[in-house]
Amino acid sequence: MDKNEAQKRIEKLREKLWEAIKAYFNENREIVPESVRDQMKKELIELETQFPEFMDANSPTQRVGAPLSGKLPKITHKSSKYSLGDVFDAEELREFDERVKRFLKVEKVEYSCEVKIDGINVTLWYEKGVLVKAVTRGDGKIGEDITHSIRTCENLPTQLSEPLTMEVSGECFIAQKDFEDIVQNPGSKVPEPGFKNPRNLAAGTVRQLDPKVAESRHLRMFLYELSSNSAEFELEVTNQKSMFEFFDKLNLPHEKEFEVFSNIEKVIKFCEQWSDPEYRKDVWYPIDGIVVKVHDFGLRRRMGYTAKTAKYAVAWKFPAEEKYTKLLDVHFQVGRTGAVTPVGILEPVDISGSTISRATLHNEGEMKRKKVMIGDTVIVRKAGEIIPEILAPINDLRNGSETKIAFPSNCPECGIKLDRDEIIARCENGKCPARHRESLYHFAKILKIDGLGEKTIDALLELDLITTPASLWKLDQYDLAMVPGFKHRKVFNLLDSLIARKYLTLTEIFSGLGIRHVGAENAKLFADFFRGKFGEFKLKKLMSHAATLKADDFLHVDGIGEKVALSFFDFLQEDRTAHLFDTFVDVDVDILWEEVKDLSSLPFSGQKFLITGSFEAFSRDELKKIITDNGGKILSSVSSNVDVLVAGEKAGSKLTKADELGVTVWNEDTFCGKVGIVREKQSLF
Ligand SMILES: [Zn+2]
Repeated sequence: MDKNEAQKRIEKLREKLWEAIKAYFNENREIVPESVRDQMKKELIELETQFPEFMDANSPTQRVGAPLSGKLPKITHKSSKYSLGDVFDAEELREFDERVKRFLKVEKVEYSCEVKIDGINVTLWYEKGVLVKAVTRGDGKIGEDITHSIRTCENLPTQLSEPLTMEVSGECFIAQKDFEDIVQNPGSKVPEPGFKNPRNLAAGTVRQLDPKVAESRHLRMFLYELSSNSAEFELEVTNQKSMFEFFDKLNLPHEKEFEVFSNIEKVIKFCEQWSDPEYRKDVWYPIDGIVVKVHDFGLRRRMGYTAKTAKYAVAWKFPAEEKYTKLLDVHFQVGRTGAVTPVGILEPVDISGSTISRATLHNEGEMKRKKVMIGDTVIVRKAGEIIPEILAPINDLRNGSETKIAFPSNCPECGIKLDRDEIIARCENGKCPARHRESLYHFAKILKIDGLGEKTIDALLELDLITTPASLWKLDQYDLAMVPGFKHRKVFNLLDSLIARKYLTLTEIFSGLGIRHVGAENAKLFADFFRGKFGEFKLKKLMSHAATLKADDFLHVDGIGEKVALSFFDFLQEDRTAHLFDTFVDVDVDILWEEVKDLSSLPFSGQKFLITGSFEAFSRDELKKIITDNGGKILSSVSSNVDVLVAGEKAGSKLTKADELGVTVWNEDTFCGKVGIVREKQSLF
C-alpha cells in the first residue's frame, strides 16, 4: 500500500468506525458487530503505526493515554456548578410552577422535560474544537481532573466539527447491560469499593488513575447543558431544544427522551407516566427521574441560582429505589391459596423513606434461579406499591459463611406434605390455619372494613372469636372488648363498619372469597354473567342458580380464559362452598344490586375492549372509565371475543396477538376521534 492509498484507507476507517461507535454508544444499536468494530480498530492501529505521519491525537485509536501517577489534579471551575432541588409529587411540581411564575411575573411558562440519567456530572472544556479538560462537579467550585478517563467515552468527540471554544456539562454513565457484565466478570485487578449500581461503578471508574480501566468498562456520555459562559452561541441557542439541535450539529451526544410542554399539568402527566417502572423498562441506561427546566434560556438567566441549586429547574425523582443489605434468614409463608412464599428477613434498610426488613423471593422457582444464600448481601428493590423484592445476591461479597436455604417439604403451619411443581410449592390442606388466616386478611381487605386490620384479625383468631368470614357479623361488643387495645370507641366503630357492609356486591363477594385466579376484574365478569342470566336475586338463591350451570357455561363468559373458568366452576362445586354461603345467609349478609345504566344507546354498547400500552392523554383507569361510560366492556386477555384493542405506546405481545387474530386496533388518536375528545398537541414543536 502506498502512502496515498494508506491515507485514504485511514480516513475511511476512522469515518466508518465513528459511525459504528455513535450508533452503538448513543443509541444502543449495532450497525456492525462488536468484533468487526474491533477489527477495524486493529487495522487502523496497524496503518497508523506504519504511516506515523497520518497519526492524529483525535483518532479513535488514541483515546487511552498513559496512567496518571499520584492523585487526581484539582481544577477550579470557570463558573460555579449547581445541583437541582428534588421534587417527589405533583403538588411539589405545582409549587415550583407557582414560584417560577411569581418570580417572572408571567401567566404562562413553557417547560422542557428530559429523562435524568443516573451517573456522574462532568463538565467539559473544548478549546478551538478540541476536548482539553473533563472535570467532576466536586463541591461546585473545585472539581477533579478526569480528562484521561472521559477521553475513553467512545461516543464523545475529542474534536468537534467546528473550532469552537465552549463549556458543556452532562452525565457520564455505564449502560445497564455493561454494568451487569462487569459485575459478573469483574476481570480488572483494581479493587472496587462496591458494585452497588451503575452510578457507583461509573463514579469509581472515572476516578481510576489508569485510563485502561475506564476503557474496559465502556463509559458513555450524554450532554444536557451549555454553560452560560459560552455566550457566543446565544443567538443560535435560545432554549433547551435549540441547544440539542446545536449539539447534533457538533456530534455531541445527548438524551433523546426529551419534550417541551406548555403547562405544568402536562409536565406532571409526563413525570407520572415515566414513574411507572413498566413504562421505562426498555430504557437501556440508568435513569432515576425527570429533569424539569424552564425552557427559555433568557428566562433562566433572569431566575438564576440559590447558593447551591438552580432556581429554574427541579428534578422529579422516581419512587423506585434499590439498595443492598444482608439477608439474615428466610421464612416460609403460606398464602390463602396455599402457595408457599419464601420471605427474606433483612437487616433493616431505608428505601425511599421507609424501613424495609422483609422482602419477597416470590416462590421456590425464583429463589433457586437467583441462587440466594442466607448471609448473602442482597439487592432489594421497592417500587411504588409493589411489595419489596430481593433481586439478586452480590456474589463478590460472600465470605464463605453463607448457608444454603432449605425449602421445606411440609407446610410450616399444618405439617402436611407440600404439593409442588417446578415453580410453586403449595399446601393443599383446605383447613390449614395459615390459609384460613390469610383468607380472612384478604376478605377484610377487599371489603375495606374500617378497623379490621391484620393485627385485629390475628387477635380475634387467637381468642377463638371468629372462624369463617361470616362469623365477623356475629361479633358483639362484649367479644370485641376482649381484643387488646379495643376500648369503647374502637369497639363501636368496628361494629358500625360491619353493619354498614352487610350488603355486598356480587363482585365483592366473589373477589373477597379468594378463589384461585379470580381477582377483582374476573369477579366482576362472573357477577355480570350471573346477573345477565338470573336477574337480581337473594344470596340464598346463589347456589341453586349455580347448580343449573355447567363448566361449559363459564367457559363462554366473555373475557374469561379456560383456567379461570374452571377454577371458578370447581369452587362452586366444592361442598364447603355451599356451606360458606349458608353462613353468610345466617348472619343476614346479602347481595347489593347496583343500579344498571341503560347502555344500549351508548356508542360502544355491546363492544368488548382490551387495553394495552400506555397513553399520552389518559391513565389506564381514565381510559377504562371512558370506555365503560360509553357502554363498552373491558376484557383482560386477548381472544377472538375482543372487538377492539386500544393500543398505546409500547404496546407489547397483546398487539402482536391481536394482529394475528385480526382484531380491530385503535391507536390513541383513533380512540379520541371515536369518543369525540379533542386532544391538544402535547409538544409545541
Ligand atoms: Zn398448611
